[in-house]
Amino acid sequence: METTAQTGARTIDILIGLSLPFRIRKRYSWYNGIMQRTIQTTYRYRLAPTAAQEQMFNRFAGARRFVWNWALNRKREHFQQTGKMLGFSALCVELTRLKQQPATSWLCQMHAQSLQQTLRDLDSAYQHFFRRVRKGETKKGFPQFKSKKTDTPRFRVPQDVRIDGSFFSVPKIGLVKAIVHRPIEGTTKSATFKREACGHWYISLVTERQIAPKVDRPIQTHVGVDVGLKSLAVLSTGQTIDNPRWYRVQSRKLRRAQKALSRKVIGSCNRGKARVGVARLHQKTRNQRNDFLHKLSTDLIRHFDLVSIEDLNVKGLAKTKLSKSVPDAGWATFRAMLTYKADRNNTHLIVIGRFFPSSKTCGACGLINADLTRADRDWTCPCGVAHDRDLNAARNIDKEGARFFEQIVAAGHAETQNACGDPISPIERLAQVVETGSRRLMSIKELIGYWSPGTHTQRVPGAGLRDRSHELMNFYY
Ligand SMILES: [Zn+2]
Repeated sequence: METTAQTGARTIDILIGLSLPFRIRKRYSWYNGIMQRTIQTTYRYRLAPTAAQEQMFNRFAGARRFVWNWALNRKREHFQQTGKMLGFSALCVELTRLKQQPATSWLCQMHAQSLQQTLRDLDSAYQHFFRRVRKGETKKGFPQFKSKKTDTPRFRVPQDVRIDGSFFSVPKIGLVKAIVHRPIEGTTKSATFKREACGHWYISLVTERQIAPKVDRPIQTHVGVDVGLKSLAVLSTGQTIDNPRWYRVQSRKLRRAQKALSRKVIGSCNRGKARVGVARLHQKTRNQRNDFLHKLSTDLIRHFDLVSIEDLNVKGLAKTKLSKSVPDAGWATFRAMLTYKADRNNTHLIVIGRFFPSSKTCGACGLINADLTRADRDWTCPCGVAHDRDLNAARNIDKEGARFFEQIVAAGHAETQNACGDPISPIERLAQVVETGSRRLMSIKELIGYWSPGTHTQRVPGAGLRDRSHELMNFYY
């Protein structure tokens, strides 16, 4: 890395070796000699449009659907005729011609960039399809035609949406009132308008801002979190967070609303109202869950320097008889929240590999109790220590997280500053060790030895060590 303070801002991608199971790509730039990184944040606000504005929203959304279907059809036709793909810029030219035709001249009243954005969205839908084909996934997901009945009304405005007090200024529509429950930081990039099933319009605004890079801070407080169903989370400090089971609580109301819906005549106004009723109940559950998880994750990230959690097979568990309880607990959302909040708040987050026997290991003597089943809430180790299952697991996760963190720090203790003299984070140091230390990329096998020596490599069932190696690995965020 070289200093670019004299030349002003310049971006550098830090790319960690491809043989690692994950890739961290961040944009760094220098401004006045201080290293900065660019982060994107999405803000979501509920809109309160007037009847006329709502009509415009619906028209914009209709235009998006129309352009999507038209473009998808053109792409398919073109491929059948020529065997070649019709690209984004060619479609843009065709779109302009389409707007000049009398039958479709109504498109001129729509926001031009928003229509082009639809073509871009279709393009990325194709890219995702190709990626899934390349990976050999079972669900290929070829882009589909959008139906007015099933498609959620939405459209995207790539630029020029600005906030003005409690109003959003939207091109071609004007000032739209919103419930601005929190201020926006950073410059606004793109805005997506979407009508939820409950009938309310929302705006999701992407903003970009520069913050100082993650730096090391001394680990004074650390915590291990064991997520579960009986209690949503147990902390290694002994604190227990109850599982509110939002969906279960709402299920009686939901059952009644769904029965009412099924009694209504298909296509009737009353059916529409009943559908909104069901949608509102679902949304309430979702809001309650998100609110709770946001508060909990923010609390953890603010109060501890190092947070360790376990990597759970959420998809796998959701297929078992726990299928209703697992998604209701929102583990995956919780982990996603912890990840981005840790990144922004200078907190270290470690995700322990999936095969780490957190519940089965005795926190006092280290013995692994292989006979422990899911039903055993308490157990006593032969060494004489009585364990509460979840608390013991949380303490083991905490210990393993701290051990792993020490390892990362030790891996790069010689290099604590980069070329500019800025402090850099352990993962960057590790990347430097991988790059400069060995002068080549390490293989997965070497990395397992490098990162997680000891118990968990031996505990992998069967021979799938190579394929499942990422499940052994601890992650640092
Ligand atoms: Zn023991």
